[in-house]
Amino acid sequence: MLRMPEFQVHLPLTARQAVNLRSTLPESMYIAGGTDLLPNLKHHLHAPQHLVSLSKVVELKGIIVDDSGVRIGAGTSLHDVANHTELAAMVPGLAQAAGLVAGPQHRRMGTLGGNVMQDTRCLFYNQSLEWRTSLGKCLKKDGDWCHVLGSAKACVAAQSSDTVPMLMALDARVEVLRPSGDLEQIALRGLFTKDGRFDQMHTLENSALVIAIVVPKPADGHRSVYRKVRTRDSVDYPQLGIAISASLKNGQLTALEVVVGAMLPQPKRLTKLDSALGRVLDEAHISELAERAFKQVRPQPNIHGSVAWRREMARVETARGLRQIADA
Ligand SMILES: Cc1cc2nc3c(=O)[nH]c(=O)nc-3n(C[C@H](O)[C@H](O)[C@H](O)COP(=O)(O)OP(=O)(O)OC[C@H]3O[C@@H](n4cnc5c(N)ncnc54)[C@H](O)[C@@H]3O)c2cc1C
Ligand code: SF4
Repeated sequence: MLRMPEFQVHLPLTARQAVNLRSTLPESMYIAGGTDLLPNLKHHLHAPQHLVSLSKVVELKGIIVDDSGVRIGAGTSLHDVANHTELAAMVPGLAQAAGLVAGPQHRRMGTLGGNVMQDTRCLFYNQSLEWRTSLGKCLKKDGDWCHVLGSAKACVAAQSSDTVPMLMALDARVEVLRPSGDLEQIALRGLFTKDGRFDQMHTLENSALVIAIVVPKPADGHRSVYRKVRTRDSVDYPQLGIAISASLKNGQLTALEVVVGAMLPQPKRLTKLDSALGRVLDEAHISELAERAFKQVRPQPNIHGSVAWRREMARVETARGLRQIADA
C-alpha cells in the first residue's frame, strides 16, 4: 500500500533560513512543488523526518531577461518558464523543454529547480516498497545489486529531466547557496556524475540550495529545439530527450551542441561536432549528424522502451530537430 511516511514541514521565508534548517535538521529534505518528491516518498524511496518547504521563499521566484542572458529563480514554475515571451525569444528550446515536462498540473506546481534536482529514475526503483522488497531491492536503495547491469558495479538510473539536456546545450550555470554561506555559480555540465544513487548523482552537498539557473545570452543567429520521445504526450517522463542548440550565419553553422537525456545518470553531450561548423545544414549533413548521434548514444534498459528502439529514435529525433533548426 502506498502510504506516506510522517514528516514535519518547515516554512522558511529566506534562502539562508532554508539552508540553515536543512543543514541543522537531521534527516531533512527540500521540497519545492513536490511533484517528483511526493510520489517517491509514497514509494518509501526516502524517509525524511523534516521537509524544508521552498514555497514561501520569494527570492527564488522570477525570470529576468537582459543583455547578459536569462536568470530564472529555482522556485519559478515550469509553466512560467514555458510561457515567458522574452525567454522564448532568446532561448526557444528551453521554453519548449519546460512546456513538455509531465502534464499541465505538474508544470503549475513543479519548479525549474526541482526539475534540475529531481531523482534519477529506473524500472526497478520507482516502485512500491513491497514490489522492491520482493525483488531484494537494488543498489540505489537498500540493496547491493543492479538489476539493469546484472552486477554490483554502479547504478545507471536515468537522469530524466527535460530541461537539463537543454540547459546543458545552452551552457547554463547553477547558482548555489552552500551550507557554509557561500554563493557560487557552477557549470551545469559538470553537475551530474555517472552514478545514479541519490547521494552521489550530483556534485553538490545535500544541503546546498539551488537559487537560480543562469543561461548566458546565446551567440547571434541562435536557434534551439528540444525533441522528446515518450509513451503518452499528455504526461509521461522522457524515454529520450534531444536538446539542440545552434547558431547559423549566412546559412552556415557557427555553433552546435547536441545533448541527449533520459539514458544514463549523466546526460550525454555529443562529441566531434566541430567538423559541422562552417557547413550548411542540408539533408546530407543532417543525416551525417544523426548517424553520429546513433553511434554515440547507448541507452540502458533502465526505463520503458527497448534499448534498440530508443537508440534508433536518437537518430530519428536528432534528424528531425536539425531539420527544425535549418528551417527556423
Ligand atoms: C506523473 C508525473 C510525470 C512527470 N513527468 C515528467 C517529465 O515528463 N519530465 C520531467 O522532467 N519531469 C517529470 N516529472 C517530475 C516532476 O514533475 C518535475 O521534475 C518537476 O520539475 C519537479 O519539480 P518540483 O518543484 O515539483 O520538485 P520537488 O518534487 O519538490 O523536488 C524534487 C527534488 O529536488 C530537490 N529540490 C527542489 N528544489 C530544490 C532547490 N531549489 N535546491 C536544491 N534541491 C531542490 C528536492 O529536495 C527533491 O529531491 C513527472 C512527475 C510526475 C508525478
Ligand atoms: S540502475 Fe540498477 S541500481 Fe540503479 S535503480 Fe536501477 S536497478 Fe537499481
